[in-house]
Amino acid sequence: MIAAPRPPVPILMYHEIAGPADTGSHLAVPPSQFAAQLGYLHDAGFHTVTAGTLAEIMNGGAGRLPDRTVVLTFDDGFEDFHRQALPLLERYGFTATLYVTTGWVQDAGPLPAGQRPGRMLSWDQVAEVADAGVEIGAHSQLHPQLDQLPRRRLREELRVSKADLEDRLGRPVPGLAYPFGYSSAAVREEARDAGHGYACAVGNTLPRPGTDPLALPRLTVRRSTSMAAFRQFTNSRNIPMIFCKDRALTKGYAMVRRTRAALGQVRRGD
Ligand SMILES: [Zn+2]
Repeated sequence: MIAAPRPPVPILMYHEIAGPADTGSHLAVPPSQFAAQLGYLHDAGFHTVTAGTLAEIMNGGAGRLPDRTVVLTFDDGFEDFHRQALPLLERYGFTATLYVTTGWVQDAGPLPAGQRPGRMLSWDQVAEVADAGVEIGAHSQLHPQLDQLPRRRLREELRVSKADLEDRLGRPVPGLAYPFGYSSAAVREEARDAGHGYACAVGNTLPRPGTDPLALPRLTVRRSTSMAAFRQFTNSRNIPMIFCKDRALTKGYAMVRRTRAALGQVRRGD
């Protein structure tokens, strides 16, 4: 046992656990592939903690992490988390963090605009998942690009989603994941003011000592992630190589969006 965050703890980001017959999303990981990944983590002696626990320890809280620790996170609140992921997590004694977009919850009522991205969890299922020991985190109300919102809407997105989850679940919601991983200094400030102790971005790198707890980087797991790549990045090897394309895209696009926001070319709802 050594004190966190040495060695760095990989934070993995999943979305749907579904096969190509059920979804067109290239981010969806088929159940058999997900089972193989968890099987590998188990056999290789990995432990799991929630993102909240990792953030607490990184923030100087009490506790130590086992040598091989990984954080499993799931974005959006797809129904297959309950049906596919949870039984597998339970089989291996693993925990996870699920970031729920409150406006997308299946029985949250009609959406003001747009559609849910798939079959989503119901409020009862979110509560069941929380009761099973999975951390529930916030992921906004309507999944906007938070860094493009005017302050008032930004504040509302962050505060209402956190309060909704806490009221429904009767437990604190200590953190969030930014939709699309996008944040800015203003977004991080509002997240902290809303009471969030930490937040996950994407970044496709590892948290290091000194990493901003309101911008914890995660590693994207997708359908095309091979078992060899999965083994390498969970062992903190070859990460820049495996994710070089993602990182270039994220950085380039962040610059485009910052420029657009500065020029006032981003309209509400973009
Ligand atoms: Zn999302």
